[in-house]
Parts: sequence; C-alpha cells; structure tokens
Amino acid sequence: MDLPHRVVVGGRVIERVHEYIEKPPGLALIVTGRTTYEIAGKIVKDSLEDHGRSVEVTHISKPLISEAEKVAERARDFDVIIGVGGGKNIDVAKYASFKASKDFISVPTNASHDGIASHIASLYDGNVRRSISTKPPVLVVADVTVISNAPYRFTRAGVGDAISNITAVRDRLLAHKLRGEYYSEYAAELSRLSAELVLRYAPIIKEGLLEGIRVLIKSLISSGVAMAIAGSSRPASGSEHLFAHALERIRPGVALHGEMVGVGTIMMAYLHGIDRKGIREALIHVGAPVDYEGLGVEPIDIIKALTTAHKIRKRFTILGENGITREAAVRLAERTLVIPRGSVDVRHQES
Ligand SMILES: [Zn+2]
Repeated sequence: MDLPHRVVVGGRVIERVHEYIEKPPGLALIVTGRTTYEIAGKIVKDSLEDHGRSVEVTHISKPLISEAEKVAERARDFDVIIGVGGGKNIDVAKYASFKASKDFISVPTNASHDGIASHIASLYDGNVRRSISTKPPVLVVADVTVISNAPYRFTRAGVGDAISNITAVRDRLLAHKLRGEYYSEYAAELSRLSAELVLRYAPIIKEGLLEGIRVLIKSLISSGVAMAIAGSSRPASGSEHLFAHALERIRPGVALHGEMVGVGTIMMAYLHGIDRKGIREALIHVGAPVDYEGLGVEPIDIIKALTTAHKIRKRFTILGENGITREAAVRLAERTLVIPRGSVDVRHQES
C-alpha cells in the first residue's frame, strides 16, 4: 500500500516546502503552468533554491499523455518531481514521476478535485480522458492561503467531487454484493466520512473563508488516501463519475469535472434511495450547479449522458451493465430537478 508520507495543510506553507521534504531532494523539477508558476511555482522554487537546492521548471499546456511522456523522459535526470498547480500540472507530474520512478510532491493551487493526494492520474489520450493508476505523492503541501485565492468556481467544483463519494461508496457496495467484487471497508468508510464532513460544513465553505477551504482540502486529501488504500479509484468514483465522463464527451470543456460529478451525485443518490435533498442543498449552498442550466448544457445532453454512462468503463454500478432507458433517464433527471418537466421528448430517439 503506497500512501503519502506527509501531508501539510496550512496558511503560507509553500514558503517552507524545503522544510517538509524528508531527504535532501538533490535536483528538483517543478512541473507547472504559466499562471500557477507566478502564483505558487516561483515561491516553491525560491524556497528550495534559498536552501541550496538546484531547481528547474517545466511548463505544461495540456494534460496529454504524450506531454506527460515527454516530462517523464526529462524527469529521469532529476531526484524529485514537484507538481504545482491545478489538476493538469498535478496529473502530469504524478504520471511522469511514476514513469521515471522518482518521488512526487503535490502542491495544489486549487481545491477542485480529489486527485491531489491520490494515485490516479487523469490524462487525455487524444480526446478521451483516461484514469491511469500510478503512485500517490510522498508529500502534499496544501497552502490554504494560495487555494483560497483561486477562482471560487474551483472550490465549489471540489465540493461536488468530495460529496460524490456518498454514491461511489454505495455503488462499490452494490458491486460487492451482486458481483462479489473486492470491498475495502476501511477505504469505503474513510471515503464516506470525507464526503459527510463536506456536507456538514458546507455552510462555512464560502469565497475567501479559510476555515471552509481547510475542511474541503482535508476531505479531498482523505478521499485520495481512500483510493490509495483500496488501490483503485472505486471508493471515490461510481455511477456519478460515469455520468460526468459521458457528459464531458458530449460537451467537452463546458463544465468542470466536480461540477458535473455533483449533478451526477444528486441523480445517483435518487437511484440509490439516499437523501438527495441534503446533497442538493449543500451544492446550492456553495453555489455549485444543480441542473443542466448551471452546467451550461442542454437537457438532451443530460439524457444522452445518462443513457451512455455505462459504456464509459467496465465498472458495475447502479446503472447496471446495460445502462438505463431513455424513459428512465428522463424520469430520473426530471424528478431530481436536473431538467425541467417536458423539456425532453421521452419517445423521440436522437440519432
Ligand atoms: Zn472525481
């Protein structure tokens, strides 16, 4: 079981990254973007250089496997790889360090997803997003001051990704009961707990409020650790993630991952018979989307995503192996207020 050796969450902690690295890092490669370098990458670089470390920086433009392979080639000449930024930079650094067999340090600049501390790298193979199993970071340095200055949209997306564990864990249990799949109770409980803390503390997750950011970031880190314990993304990725991935293929780049996942969680909670109102209220409270309009898509896109979600990957969930019918999808989306009543014709089949 590979788990992060150290997790540091606090204000202005990136200025002291050099203190948290267990062994002298030798030559460090910072993987970052142009904007995130200015916000945080430069501070990490200065922190290490001021303490006698040699550092080089590489800028990432797209989270492509091909780009991550190039970084992996370069990473072989370094001792430690530091991903500084949002999902894109963290995932490229995670993949590259795994391929080059180097230690990986995760320095998130927003709280939009639970890949911060997990072993799963989410990268594009052409137009298709793939979840690749790698190794979790040895060190996570989450600076709540930096994260609280990120656009608030990232934070509310992170709430969606955090609470999705509620339905993901139920899907996992279903797969265990009906298919005899391996079920790690410890990973499931940790995953569920991290989601419930975010539900409970949703009222304090507000723009600029450090305490709320702290709760969210800890939850996302725990979620990543739950995945690492299970050795799979399953404790934090079920039917709601299948829906989100399907919707992203239909409307690429329109909504953030966590925004789509949050709406998926409302609908899958309905199928599982869980109190979906609490989930919906928490999302509304933090200003996250709860319907097609909030996501910036059309009602028909929601239906197409619901009826094709089961094809995304071989993963047994409440959607079953054959998926759900158009009629069931329309009923589900209408009852959970994700689309307005009568906005999609039940009978008409889209080509
Ligand atoms: Zn996710």
